[in-house]
Parts: sequence; C-alpha cells; structure tokens
Amino acid sequence: MPFESELRTALEAVRQAAKVCRSVQSSITTESLAKKDNSPVTVADYASQALICRTLQAKFPSDPVIGEEGAAELRLPDGATFLSRIVEECRSAGVTASALEICDWIDRGGTSTFSPRFWTLDPIDGTKGFLRKEQYAISLALIIDGTIEVGVLGCPNMPFEDAASSGVLAWAVRGHGAWMQSLDAPETTPVQIHVSETSDAAELLFCESVESGHSSHDWSGLIASDLAIHKEPVRMDSQCKYLAVACGDADLYLRLPTRKGYQEKIWDHAGGVLVVTEAGGTVTDIHGKAADFCHGACMAVNEGMVVTNGKLHERIITAISRHAP
Ligand code: AMP
Ligand code: MG
Repeated sequence: MPFESELRTALEAVRQAAKVCRSVQSSITTESLAKKDNSPVTVADYASQALICRTLQAKFPSDPVIGEEGAAELRLPDGATFLSRIVEECRSAGVTASALEICDWIDRGGTSTFSPRFWTLDPIDGTKGFLRKEQYAISLALIIDGTIEVGVLGCPNMPFEDAASSGVLAWAVRGHGAWMQSLDAPETTPVQIHVSETSDAAELLFCESVESGHSSHDWSGLIASDLAIHKEPVRMDSQCKYLAVACGDADLYLRLPTRKGYQEKIWDHAGGVLVVTEAGGTVTDIHGKAADFCHGACMAVNEGMVVTNGKLHERIITAISRHAP
C-alpha cells in the first residue's frame, strides 16, 4: 500500500493526541463550564498540535504542516501559565520537553501557504463539543499536489460499533478504502466502513453542526421539508459528522453557509473528506463543486460543504440551490 509509513505515523500521532485531549477533557467541571472557562480547550488544543507536529517532524522533517494553532501568544509573558500546563500535559503523555521546544513544535504547524506536499491538522475540531463533553475530533491529512492521499480522524467520544466503550480511530488512504478501529485497541483488526444505501430522500437521516452560526439550520429545515425528510437532524460538533456518514450511521451532512464570504478551512474537512469518499460517499460544496485544497489554509473557491452517501447527491444540490437565501 502506498503511504504506509505516513499512515502509520499519522495514526500513532493522532492516538497520542487523543490521550491528551481525553485527559484534559476529564478535568472539565460544571463549575469551569459555568464560568465559560475556555482554558481546558486551549491547553488541549495546543498540546495536541505540539505532539502531532513533534511526531511528523521526527518522521518527515521537510513536510510543512498547515495547522489551526500557532504559539505566538504562548511565547508572550501572559502565556506562561498556559504554557506550563501544556508542558505538564505533554509530560503526562510521556513526552518530556521544555516550554520552548513545545512552542517550536506548535509553530511547525504554522504554515499557511500551499505546497506540493503538506499535512493539514485540526488538533481539536469542535471545541464547543469538547467543552460540553460531547463530540470533537482530531483531524490530520496528507495532501500531495492538491489531492488528499491520507486522512485520519480521531473521535474520542464516538461509539465504536455497538460496544459500550467509546472512541473511534478512522482513516483512509486514497484508493484503499476507509477503515476504523477502537481508539483504545490498536492491536485489533481494523473494520472497513461503508456509507449507507439509503436512496429514498424522505428516509434520509442528516446531520449538521450544533452551532447555527457554522451552518444554517433554517436553510437545512427548508430542504428537509422540500424533500419530505421526516427524521429530525442529528446535531453534532466536529468532523465526527464525516465519520457518521462514512460508516452509514447518517446519510447526509450539510454545511450551509450562514454568511457570504466565510471561507471554510482545510483542516475542518481534509481528513473527513477522504474517509467519506473512500467509504463510497460523495463530497462537494453547495454548488456541486469538488472540494479544492490548493489555496492554502482556506477553501477559497468553495462555499459550504455537502457530504452524502452518493445516492442522492444531485437532488440535494438542487434542493440547496432552490432554497438559497
Ligand atoms: P462544527 O463543529 O461543525 O460546528 O465546526 C467547527 C468549525 O467551524 C471550527 O473548527 C471553525 O473552524 C469553523 N467555523 C468557524 N466559524 C464558522 C462559520 N461562520 N461558518 C462555518 N464554519 C465556521
Ligand atoms: Mg475545526
């Protein structure tokens, strides 16, 4: 299989980052939530990016990483408290490093321009879900000449098959299918995943963002009425929505722009897009245009995103345009 070493490295990196995220998430209390204390997500976000970039740097030192975070604020005097917590979290994950080294790893993910070969990373996608102790994802993808070759999603709170335990690691290498495994059991045989077979529009189960500021719930409501979809949408944070479609738990994921001019970020999609397409699904923007990863951090020529099991893609695109605000 091509990109075997890249896949192995990416899986190991995402697993390690997931451990840190889980550890930080378990420390969130109702009190810190009530105070709208965002520090847990900040600490976990930076630690996750530091650990993943450290692993990528060791194995592929010349690969740039377009990541969501940068360490500029941590390097300021005001960032010292956060930084010491990040150092501590990394140490608990088995990585002992100085504050400076950690900042340097985080900044390894600070590229924003396109290149022929790069990784893109969202160290915690769905920060609101992370804080609510609901769904979030760690997303990592390798893009070569604008094509996603490897995609990995770590979803620490997604149920694995019907098991009582939660935590899914899903991945795809282009041309080699989409797979998942329990996040906690790297020794187990991976399970190949496939999108659903639903082809009756009325029977579609769709998912969308919890945040109406990230995807228009009004617009999706109009589409649902138009197509006589009778199931309530499943609202979920993060790229776990891509995983839900890839393993057939949902048939459709709609991301409908809430305002003109917002450009989707590549790290919010790349990992998920490959997992879904390798599971047999279809991904385009709301105009039916292919997702284009050739413009640096932003998906400058796309608007929103439409992810389906491939059976009704055209009908969905038509319904979206019919109800465009
Ligand atoms: P979700 O968990 O699906 O709500 O998506 C979370 C992601 O939404 C974050 O990682 C942000 O990058 C992204 N985001 C922020 N503002 C917007 C917006 N106005 N429209 C779409 N996505 C956004
Ligand atoms: Mg994100």
